[in-house]
Amino acid sequence: MSFSDLGLLPELLRAVADKGYDSPSPIQIQAIPAVLGGRDVLAGAQTGTGKTAGFVLPILQRLSADQANGTLRAPRALVLTPTRELAAQVAQSARDYGKYMQLRTYQVFGGVSINPQISALRSGCDILVATPGRLLDLAQQRAADLSKVQVLVLDEADRMLDMGFINDIRKIIKLLPQKRQNLLFSATYSDDIRGLAERLLHDPLSIQVAPRNAPIELVEQRAYRVQKEQKRHLLVHLIQEGQWRQVLIFTRTKHGANRLTQQLEGAGIQAAAIHGNKSQAARVKALDMFKRGQVTALVATEVAARGLDIKELPQVVNYELPNVPEDYVHRIGRTGRAGAAGEAVSLVSSDEGGLLRDIERVLRRSIPVLPTPVFKIVESAPQSASNGNRGSGDRPQGDRAHGEARGNRPAQGQGRQGQNHGGRDSRRAPGGGGSGTRSFGQQQRGRFR
Ligand code: AMP
Repeated sequence: MSFSDLGLLPELLRAVADKGYDSPSPIQIQAIPAVLGGRDVLAGAQTGTGKTAGFVLPILQRLSADQANGTLRAPRALVLTPTRELAAQVAQSARDYGKYMQLRTYQVFGGVSINPQISALRSGCDILVATPGRLLDLAQQRAADLSKVQVLVLDEADRMLDMGFINDIRKIIKLLPQKRQNLLFSATYSDDIRGLAERLLHDPLSIQVAPRNAPIELVEQRAYRVQKEQKRHLLVHLIQEGQWRQVLIFTRTKHGANRLTQQLEGAGIQAAAIHGNKSQAARVKALDMFKRGQVTALVATEVAARGLDIKELPQVVNYELPNVPEDYVHRIGRTGRAGAAGEAVSLVSSDEGGLLRDIERVLRRSIPVLPTPVFKIVESAPQSASNGNRGSGDRPQGDRAHGEARGNRPAQGQGRQGQNHGGRDSRRAPGGGGSGTRSFGQQQRGRFR
């Protein structure tokens, strides 16, 4: 199966070829013809499956077909997303895939000034990507005209409901023409999602590419038991020992994300935090630096990290386990994308044993708990220090080795290289080693069922 078999226009095939994709992913194979044919779609698909191209490509094609609709371009496709980051990513995809077409895409989200968005919307666009709250504000100020919307997409609908957007979504839907195409993408199916789907969709094509709670085969998972207050030291050890270049770390709270970021910086590891309290500019900057390799560790809360498309992320760390087991699946879904192998490491303190078991139950497999490597306690400078807190020294009594090794007595003395969990190389997941062409081929098959 190739993209040209899906009935896409040459302009889109060219843009897809520019991206280096050699074949469509399973969700694209199913969704593209259905959306081109005007059908409603209910898709169970998480980030990493290629879902964005699954709806963006056919929408671009449909919109390009009836270009001449008046002089002022009110949006004809509306994509709602839970987070600013996802909105920006979807909009960027629409621009990338539509680069040989004359369609305009614009994104709006909260956390930034509304006035530039008002003026930009005045100059018109074909595809509008928005987070619900800001879109509603714009609509109420009559800056967004939603009366021409022909296609509505709810992307990551489950997360939008989790974030309490249901009322905003309902209000937005009331502003849309009754006759329109509706596409709903959701990684999980709760009763709320089913209810929403029933109200919204007409005779939808149901697509399921990642069965609910499917384990992500490409990701090598492991856990270490460690006391809560020692987690940061173990993390520093893992990053340094493994020479990790890019690691996404999940904490439960915004405050925890800030604190850990400072602690990592204190240990000489370039780190940045990304969470809802940060300004949009700070979040974009942090993400950008992380993507460009200027920051080694990106510390994120669940919600902020949702939908982040970071290419071929090698490492994810659950600094704290999520309370909701399904979130574990989303988190580790950040790694091993587009053919690259990834590793997911969970740091499990004694009070988190139950959470680990819940996750294993949902995954229907156990996560190997490896002997905790020997690590050193490296104190960072006091957090109040405004600068100069980098690399501020090992604790003088130093070289105190830690490790709650299960069945593996922590070595005394130097907690340095080479003594830890050995065999990193032997644990490399299959399918790594990127080739020039990005493929959803054989090695990924397990992920895209
Ligand atoms: P998504 O699930 O939409 O977030 O996409 C995940 C990643 O897969 C993105 O980086 C896309 O650029 C990439 N991608 C989408 N479709 C394909 C394809 N057919 N072949 C290879 N990579 C793809």
